[in-house]
Amino acid sequence: MGSLHQQPAIKRPHVVVFPYPSQGHINPLMEFAKRLVSKNLHVTFITTERIRERMIQAQDGVAAHVTTVMQDIRIETVPDGLSPDNEETKDRDMIFDLLRKVGGHKFEQLIERLNSEGDTVSCIVYDSFLEWVPIIANKFDIPSALLWTQSCAVYSIYYHFYAGMVKAKDEAENARDIIAIPGLPQLCQSDLPSFLQPSNTYASLLRFQLNQFSTVSQATWILGNSFNELEMAEIQSMDSLIPIRTVGPLVPSAFLDGNNPDDQDVGTHLWKAANCIDWLNKKEASTVVYVSFGSLAVLSKEQIIEIALGLKASQHSFLWVIRPDHNKEEEKDIRDFLEGFIEETMDQGLVVSWCPQMAVLNHPSVGMFVTHSGWNSTLESLSSGLPVLTISQRSDQTTNSKYIEDVWKTGIRLNKTRDGPVGRDEMEKSIKTIMEGESGVDLRKNALQWKTLAKKAMVKGGSSNKNIDWFVHEVIARTTLA
Ligand code: UDP
Repeated sequence: MGSLHQQPAIKRPHVVVFPYPSQGHINPLMEFAKRLVSKNLHVTFITTERIRERMIQAQDGVAAHVTTVMQDIRIETVPDGLSPDNEETKDRDMIFDLLRKVGGHKFEQLIERLNSEGDTVSCIVYDSFLEWVPIIANKFDIPSALLWTQSCAVYSIYYHFYAGMVKAKDEAENARDIIAIPGLPQLCQSDLPSFLQPSNTYASLLRFQLNQFSTVSQATWILGNSFNELEMAEIQSMDSLIPIRTVGPLVPSAFLDGNNPDDQDVGTHLWKAANCIDWLNKKEASTVVYVSFGSLAVLSKEQIIEIALGLKASQHSFLWVIRPDHNKEEEKDIRDFLEGFIEETMDQGLVVSWCPQMAVLNHPSVGMFVTHSGWNSTLESLSSGLPVLTISQRSDQTTNSKYIEDVWKTGIRLNKTRDGPVGRDEMEKSIKTIMEGESGVDLRKNALQWKTLAKKAMVKGGSSNKNIDWFVHEVIARTTLA
């Protein structure tokens, strides 16, 4: 018999998750989406039509259990605004502008449609690169959560520059000048994100990075892909400015916390991942050097040659991811060089266009990671307990590599100079130090300690897990009140 005082049914909150359309942003936001689903929220994941198409093509053959993890996440698309005439453009201002205008307009229509279909949106989790999203959310009176996809140190650095609390220097010779920012270790100019260094030639990318803060006051919550134990002072120092709550590392659950053993791959690759696991299975424990520069970096021919010869001279087995998108002018020379190199080193290494990185980093045969130190790769190396050799290219990678070497002490950094790339001899020596030397043992020990702390943050009762629970409760409270 029904009670006269029946409570109104509580709606299952519906969270829309909207990453910037590039691999390093889609991955952590998809992992966050999976966590929300596991906490019984209903999630719609937004991406652009072009990216969706690439994901479908690349996913062909993804293991069934990974697809199962994602089946409860509804995918919707918006256009990126690029036409066949300008889809190859490198003009960042144009790319951001079109996404904001064309994508933003369609995004508004999408929210209207979801609401009118009875799938009322309770909250929008957006990538800080999409600074226009909270304005749309406010129009609909929907609370929004900014998800910062770089480190909290970088969050603090950009904010201090944005707010004029620290001034950029314009003289290249001052690369060793100290930049003082509360909560951060002493940084030289050359430790700052490359866009803040005097040598920066990407003015639009610096504008874009700083612009992330222009609408931060309109976001209801600010979340970060990091964890308290890793960046305690950096996080605390932002409490009196714009507090950030960490919910990471946002990596497939099976490799870290084990809360969802089926979550063994992010499932959002934009390139088809090669099966290199069979090859790794044939190698002895901790004998393989894994090399990857992420999804965006385009290395010069010179740098590719130096890496190749450094790897070869190290005499260690290697697995090297070389994406097919080379610098156009050097493309033919690079292909010719690689063809010869791959043949010569057939017994030593394997070169692939893309791989399932977390599975590789966690494979027992892998002994170290040569990385550009993008933020996801950095968190993934810490979560996997692997020592690293960093060869940063640009953006926040310079700051991440400073932390890796001097703060977290899990790796060695090699910096390219203005005159040239990192050389083969430095590569060979550093690989040998990590794989064979005493200091390599210490780096590995430190990395394993970070892995333990990262896991602790993500399991029940851990700092990031509690922050995710807090966020879910906040969303539920607002949905029930609505
Ligand atoms: N990645 C991958 N397979 C590869 C190379 C990279 O799955 O062969 C993933 C990697 O695990 C990470 C992302 O691509 O999640 C790259 O992000 P990151 O922040 O490291 O660098 P970005 O691509 O943004 O420069």
